[in-house]
Amino acid sequence: MICEVEMSYTEQFGVKPGRALKLDKIDPAFTDCRESHKDAAKELDRDRDKLRSLQELLYADGRFSLLICLQGLDAGGKDGTINHILGAMNPQGCSVVGFKQPTREEVAHDFLWRIHQQTPPRGRVTIFNRSHYEDVLVVRVHELVPEAVWSHRYEQINAFESALVDDNTHILKFFLHISKKEQLRRFKERLDDPAKQWKISESDYKERRFWGDYKRAYEDALSRCSSKRAPWFVIPSDHKWFRNLAVARIVVEYLEGLKMRFPRPSVDIEHIRREYHAAKER
Ligand code: AMP
Ligand code: MG
Repeated sequence: MICEVEMSYTEQFGVKPGRALKLDKIDPAFTDCRESHKDAAKELDRDRDKLRSLQELLYADGRFSLLICLQGLDAGGKDGTINHILGAMNPQGCSVVGFKQPTREEVAHDFLWRIHQQTPPRGRVTIFNRSHYEDVLVVRVHELVPEAVWSHRYEQINAFESALVDDNTHILKFFLHISKKEQLRRFKERLDDPAKQWKISESDYKERRFWGDYKRAYEDALSRCSSKRAPWFVIPSDHKWFRNLAVARIVVEYLEGLKMRFPRPSVDIEHIRREYHAAKER
């Protein structure tokens, strides 16, 4: 089943630059016209195939790189999304970088230092599992630096991203939006499943208490740092299959819009073709 969408997901889930964002107005359980994973199976397959060819084209074309930033609360589905997107691509052209609490060396530098070192070179795709946005999210919520410092970071982030885009590093940023209820359900699943218990961290339940603070921090970060050139998307993520579908679709639409091309062969194809035919005759 393919939904007859009136609006592309790029438009529908894109955060309008500079406009106030209210996450409560976005339903985390939205699935468009589909009722189950089964309804989405064909589309998921189709987009996975497209992702694979587009990433190969990005690699061959060699002019652009793609940076995907994933943000979300605990159990929001960052790992699952990475698995889905990268699972479709050739591992030789991709990488994943996770950002945890900064090390002593990292905090001794400006907050973008560790980030810039990991941005993708031309022809490649990098996914950030958490990103420089932690420095206006967890850092703001827990007052790890004074407000005078974090409040200046939105502008610094915009300037940094703009410089990357100028240099053909394209940036897509996804906030995986889950409900508080779904987060609790996923925590419970982790508690009950021995294969998932390793994912539980001490801070998970503690951080739930800051749900409202995180929501406000996300609303500010997304509306202040979404731009046409480095857009943020709010992805309804209570249903993992819909989340995967929406993220993959937006990446596909974006890459298709880049008008990439295979480079001209560096060898004389006609000459090699003649050699091939001559070899066949022998
Ligand atoms: P996880 O992604 O579950 O492995 O957890 C990584 C942890 O590192 C999360 O609790 C993040 O909030 C935290 N973290 C990531 N970046 C920063 C940062 N810049 N400052 C403080 N904590 C951070
Ligand atoms: Mg965690």
